[in-house]
Amino acid sequence: MKVHEYQAKEIFSTYGIPVERHALCHTADGAVAAYHRMGVNRVAIKAQVLTGGRGKAGGVKLANNDRDVYQYAQTILEMTIKGYPVTKILLSEAVNIAAEYYISFTIDRNMRSVTLIMSAAGGMDIEEVARQSPEKIIRCSIDPLIGVPDYLAHKFAFSLFEQAEQANRMATIIQDLYKAFIEKDASLAEINPLVLTPVGTLLAIDAKMVFDDNALYRHPDLQKLSEPTEDEKLEAIAKERGFSYVRMDGEIGCMVNGAGLAMTTMDMIKLYGGNPANFLDIGGSSNPVKVIEAMRLLLDDKKVKVVFINIFGGITRCDDVAIGLLQAFEQIQTDIPIIVRLTGTNGNMGRELLRKNNRFQVAQTMEEATKMAIESLKKESI
Ligand code: GDP
Ligand code: MN
Repeated sequence: MKVHEYQAKEIFSTYGIPVERHALCHTADGAVAAYHRMGVNRVAIKAQVLTGGRGKAGGVKLANNDRDVYQYAQTILEMTIKGYPVTKILLSEAVNIAAEYYISFTIDRNMRSVTLIMSAAGGMDIEEVARQSPEKIIRCSIDPLIGVPDYLAHKFAFSLFEQAEQANRMATIIQDLYKAFIEKDASLAEINPLVLTPVGTLLAIDAKMVFDDNALYRHPDLQKLSEPTEDEKLEAIAKERGFSYVRMDGEIGCMVNGAGLAMTTMDMIKLYGGNPANFLDIGGSSNPVKVIEAMRLLLDDKKVKVVFINIFGGITRCDDVAIGLLQAFEQIQTDIPIIVRLTGTNGNMGRELLRKNNRFQVAQTMEEATKMAIESLKKESI
């Protein structure tokens, strides 16, 4: 789960990481009022969206008078950045920048550990720096049993700063950021840029945190910050019903028992030149109630032109599956072609039962079924 910059900054503040003064606004008038309350000359106006690269998209502007604050706030509030409409902006006291640094903690699956990433070439071009001059990026794996004690924090800090005073400040920030990362079960805690001011202080002028969804149950305070997209809402509803469901862009709706088989079904569709509309694992059972619920999810997606039900009857017998499907489809009204691939225990019996009902196109192998799905899609589009 991602949170906005202003929310990440709130968390940073509770861990003692220095951030500049700021105020959240929803309107251009609100921004001007906040500008007056702040009583400073120059402010940064920043789009609050759950994606990065706002600066490059024009979502970060500096202003030093009422008119500009109003104008920029208005323009940014009308923007959509990478598909996210801007509904909130952050007005923050502008900071004089002597240098921009990058620092983050993330999980490195290859190293099986938390990794600290730092660079003296922070700012909006950090991805470019990582590609063009990877030597400017410092990576350090963190031993979970040791964490980041003082001596390590100082060692890391001195790799970026020569002066002891600044290195000390940096060491504290490294430790505080690590603490926030661990305690909040984050998968990313990032400051880009961490700014060195002309007077030698360090400030986090941007903040990004991503939390591990599997650990959210331990953090009711973070759960409250969730702003799911329409797709994420659907996935959550599906999860409550015991499905794992991910929407995609294709036309072939898939209903499969088992995650591995669901992945294979999608691969097969792609192999034969089609596009899956979704990943849907309905789990082991074939109970009609589940089938009905799953069909509702599929048919609710208007892109779906064909449904491909791929069931392997192992412990659940195929004749039971067939009876379940027949019962379910008594209650489902749709003209969409339904292809069923049914194989496994009592496969013949199951397929015979389904063939008696002209609602279904029945197949035994995956190739057969996939080709059938793609063929009926072609017919549908004529
Ligand atoms: P991002 O593009 O989404 O990462 O947004 P950031 O918050 O990191 O802002 C992008 C860039 O805008 C930063 O790298 C800075 O160069 C610049 N910027 C942001 N806030 C200020 C500020 O207060 N003063 C100055 N001079 N520049 C700022
Ligand atoms: Mn940034």
